[in-house]
Amino acid sequence: MIEFVVKTSSRNQMINITREVSESIPKDLSGMAVVHIPHTTAAVTINEGADPALKNDILNYLEELVPHSAGYTHIEGNSDSHIKSSMIGSSVNLIIDGGKLVLGTWQAIFFCEFDGPRTRKVYLKLIEQ
Ligand code: ZN
Repeated sequence: MIEFVVKTSSRNQMINITREVSESIPKDLSGMAVVHIPHTTAAVTINEGADPALKNDILNYLEELVPHSAGYTHIEGNSDSHIKSSMIGSSVNLIIDGGKLVLGTWQAIFFCEFDGPRTRKVYLKLIEQ
Protein backbone atom coordinates (compact mmCIF):
# COMPACT_ATOMS: atom_id res chain seq x y z
CA MET A 1 0.00 0.00 0.00
CA ILE A 2 1.12 3.52 -0.80
CA GLU A 3 0.45 6.43 1.51
CA PHE A 4 0.82 10.13 0.94
CA VAL A 5 0.02 13.28 2.86
CA VAL A 6 -2.27 16.17 1.98
CA LYS A 7 -2.03 19.43 3.91
CA THR A 8 -5.24 21.41 3.89
CA SER A 9 -5.51 25.13 4.63
CA SER A 10 -9.18 25.79 5.32
CA ARG A 11 -12.15 24.13 7.01
CA ASN A 12 -13.80 23.10 3.73
CA GLN A 13 -11.55 22.53 0.74
CA MET A 14 -11.20 20.37 -2.36
CA ILE A 15 -7.65 19.57 -3.46
CA ASN A 16 -6.83 17.97 -6.80
CA ILE A 17 -4.70 14.87 -6.03
CA THR A 18 -4.71 13.38 -9.54
CA ARG A 19 -0.98 14.05 -10.03
CA GLU A 20 0.01 12.44 -6.71
CA VAL A 21 -2.03 9.33 -7.54
CA SER A 22 -0.73 9.17 -11.15
CA GLU A 23 2.88 9.51 -10.07
CA SER A 24 2.47 6.58 -7.66
CA ILE A 25 1.59 4.14 -10.45
CA PRO A 26 4.48 2.04 -11.75
CA LYS A 27 5.14 2.18 -15.49
CA ASP A 28 3.35 -0.64 -17.38
CA LEU A 29 1.05 -1.61 -14.48
CA SER A 30 -2.49 -2.48 -15.57
CA GLY A 31 -5.30 -3.18 -13.15
CA MET A 32 -7.01 -0.95 -10.69
CA ALA A 33 -6.36 1.55 -7.95
CA VAL A 34 -8.35 2.07 -4.79
CA VAL A 35 -7.95 5.54 -3.28
CA HIS A 36 -9.08 5.47 0.34
CA ILE A 37 -9.26 8.34 2.84
CA PRO A 38 -8.72 7.06 6.42
CA HIS A 39 -10.57 9.94 8.11
CA THR A 40 -14.16 10.47 9.25
CA THR A 41 -14.34 14.17 8.37
CA ALA A 42 -12.77 14.06 4.90
CA ALA A 43 -13.65 12.32 1.65
CA VAL A 44 -12.61 11.67 -1.94
CA THR A 45 -14.49 12.21 -5.19
CA ILE A 46 -13.98 12.38 -8.93
CA ASN A 47 -15.26 15.47 -10.71
CA GLU A 48 -14.34 18.18 -13.20
CA GLY A 49 -10.81 19.50 -12.74
CA ALA A 50 -10.79 22.24 -15.39
CA ASP A 51 -12.76 25.07 -13.78
CA PRO A 52 -11.58 25.97 -10.25
CA ALA A 53 -14.94 27.70 -9.60
CA LEU A 54 -16.70 24.33 -9.59
CA LYS A 55 -14.97 23.35 -6.32
CA ASN A 56 -16.48 26.42 -4.64
CA ASP A 57 -19.91 25.65 -6.07
CA ILE A 58 -19.77 22.09 -4.68
CA LEU A 59 -18.47 23.22 -1.26
CA ASN A 60 -20.99 26.08 -1.03
CA TYR A 61 -23.86 23.79 -1.95
CA LEU A 62 -22.79 21.20 0.64
CA GLU A 63 -22.63 24.00 3.23
CA GLU A 64 -26.21 24.96 2.35
CA LEU A 65 -27.37 21.37 2.70
CA VAL A 66 -25.38 20.68 5.87
CA PRO A 67 -24.75 23.89 7.87
CA HIS A 68 -22.00 23.98 10.51
CA SER A 69 -24.50 24.57 13.32
CA ALA A 70 -27.90 22.92 13.15
CA GLY A 71 -28.67 21.53 16.59
CA TYR A 72 -26.43 18.49 16.27
CA THR A 73 -25.68 16.44 19.40
CA HIS A 74 -22.15 15.08 18.62
CA ILE A 75 -19.91 16.38 21.41
CA GLU A 76 -16.99 17.39 19.13
CA GLY A 77 -19.14 20.02 17.39
CA ASN A 78 -18.20 18.84 13.92
CA SER A 79 -21.23 16.79 12.89
CA ASP A 80 -21.48 18.73 9.64
CA SER A 81 -17.97 17.48 8.73
CA HIS A 82 -18.92 13.86 9.48
CA ILE A 83 -22.17 14.12 7.49
CA LYS A 84 -20.41 15.61 4.45
CA SER A 85 -17.76 12.88 4.64
CA SER A 86 -20.46 10.19 4.47
CA MET A 87 -22.30 11.97 1.67
CA ILE A 88 -19.22 12.14 -0.57
CA GLY A 89 -17.63 8.82 0.47
CA SER A 90 -14.26 7.59 1.67
CA SER A 91 -12.98 5.78 -1.42
CA VAL A 92 -12.96 5.70 -5.22
CA ASN A 93 -11.92 2.94 -7.63
CA LEU A 94 -9.95 3.75 -10.74
CA ILE A 95 -8.90 1.80 -13.83
CA ILE A 96 -5.19 1.69 -14.67
CA ASP A 97 -4.04 0.78 -18.16
CA GLY A 98 -0.37 0.63 -19.13
CA GLY A 99 0.77 2.62 -16.11
CA LYS A 100 -1.80 5.38 -16.66
CA LEU A 101 -5.04 6.28 -14.91
CA VAL A 102 -8.05 5.93 -17.18
CA LEU A 103 -10.07 9.08 -16.53
CA GLY A 104 -12.45 11.07 -18.70
CA THR A 105 -11.05 14.21 -20.33
CA TRP A 106 -12.38 16.51 -17.64
CA GLN A 107 -12.15 14.20 -14.65
CA ALA A 108 -9.83 14.74 -11.70
CA ILE A 109 -9.53 13.12 -8.27
CA PHE A 110 -10.27 15.49 -5.38
CA PHE A 111 -9.39 15.11 -1.72
CA CYS A 112 -12.28 16.75 0.15
CA GLU A 113 -11.52 18.40 3.50
CA PHE A 114 -14.49 19.11 5.75
CA ASP A 115 -12.79 19.85 9.08
CA GLY A 116 -9.51 21.53 8.28
CA PRO A 117 -6.97 22.85 8.28
CA ARG A 118 -5.22 19.56 8.99
CA THR A 119 -2.54 17.21 7.76
CA ARG A 120 -4.33 14.25 6.18
CA LYS A 121 -3.44 10.86 4.79
CA VAL A 122 -4.41 9.28 1.50
CA TYR A 123 -4.09 5.51 1.07
CA LEU A 124 -3.60 4.05 -2.37
CA LYS A 125 -3.81 0.34 -3.14
CA LEU A 126 -2.78 -0.82 -6.60
CA ILE A 127 -4.12 -4.17 -7.82
CA GLU A 128 -2.48 -5.71 -10.88
CA GLN A 129 -4.77 -7.58 -13.28
ZN1 ZN B 1 -16.43 14.46 15.44
